[in-house]
Amino acid sequence: MAKGYRKKILVTGGAGFLGSHLCERLLLDGHDVLCVDNFYTGTKDNIARLLENHCFEVMRHDVTFPLYVEVDEIYNLACPASPIHYQHDPVQTTKTSVHGAINMLGLAKRVKAKIFQASTSEVYGDPIVHPQTESYWGNVNPIGTRSCYDEGKRCAETLFFDYYRQHKLRIKVGRIFNTYGPRMHPNDGRVVSNFIVQALKNEPITLYGDGNQSRSFCYVDDLIEAFVRLMDTPDDFPGPMNLGNPNEFTIRQLAETVIELTGARSELTFLPLPSDDPRQRQPDITLAREMLGWEPTTVLRDGLTRTIEYFDRLLRAIK
Ligand code: NAD
Ligand code: UDP
Repeated sequence: MAKGYRKKILVTGGAGFLGSHLCERLLLDGHDVLCVDNFYTGTKDNIARLLENHCFEVMRHDVTFPLYVEVDEIYNLACPASPIHYQHDPVQTTKTSVHGAINMLGLAKRVKAKIFQASTSEVYGDPIVHPQTESYWGNVNPIGTRSCYDEGKRCAETLFFDYYRQHKLRIKVGRIFNTYGPRMHPNDGRVVSNFIVQALKNEPITLYGDGNQSRSFCYVDDLIEAFVRLMDTPDDFPGPMNLGNPNEFTIRQLAETVIELTGARSELTFLPLPSDDPRQRQPDITLAREMLGWEPTTVLRDGLTRTIEYFDRLLRAIK
């Protein structure tokens, strides 16, 4: 597609944390954006500023039902991402991933759109291979409390690759590792937002388990750049591709950094580790470096500082 061509782009889950940043970026790039969301975890506040832009449209719709629109590209992000939220209604979570993928792939096939799937590092489960490369098949419990999300996303990947092989659909599967930043929901339940909100309120920081489990945290702006670059790769490249920041930290280190950056008087409190909580996680991003010429540039302390500023403003506004 020629550079500068104004595309019609559908973003499912567009009112969520990542989706709202993606909508904003695509509008800045000069495209028409249709945001589809059922507002299960996303909010109208996340996209309020975008409504002034005549190239932006929003539609309340649940992706488990078919959707009939005309678009050139689809970014399929609809799915709660926080363990607390995706475990609240696990059947709906699997339906969102699986029926949502079927519906969006059907739409892509009908209108010949290119389609990106927001997959996840959870397809690797509690990984035995470290760091995780795309060729690793993972270590996933099929019947645990995280399975609705992990297996739903794995099944979505299967559907994407079957549409690629069977219907020659242009697909892009990105496996996203833990990403954080402004517009995470204050009650989202994921670790970065939990720790920052707790620290800003001088409440105890809730460490699950001993806090020695690790994650690799990517700042949202870095990730969105990778989405757009992956979508622009040649049609014969479907992925999957790991997208994340390879700098790995223990959850305890994260807590200590948040306390230091906020100047909080919070203490650490230790709570039971949720079942099937992965012990370690770090993306191997060699493929993304080579194919996209991309790597994250925001170090954890800088990304946390920007995210703390966001939550500080938000908490003051709702006091
Ligand atoms: P989020 O919960 O903020 O956003 C998800 C959005 O999807 C919300 O706006 C929600 O209302 C919407 N949604 C949920 N079910 C829907 C349905 N049935 N129909 C229509 N909309 C629906 O989460 P996020 O962090 O922005 O994650 C976006 C996507 O990226 C998800 O698919 C998630 O699995 C994936 N992902 C995110 C991360 C991360 O660290 N943020 C990591 C791995 C994968
Ligand atoms: N975690 C924690 N305290 C919290 C929230 C999360 O110690 O208040 C831990 C959680 O057990 C996990 C890690 O932080 O080991 C990341 O959790 P999150 O829910 O952000 O994402 P996950 O990578 O587990 O999907």
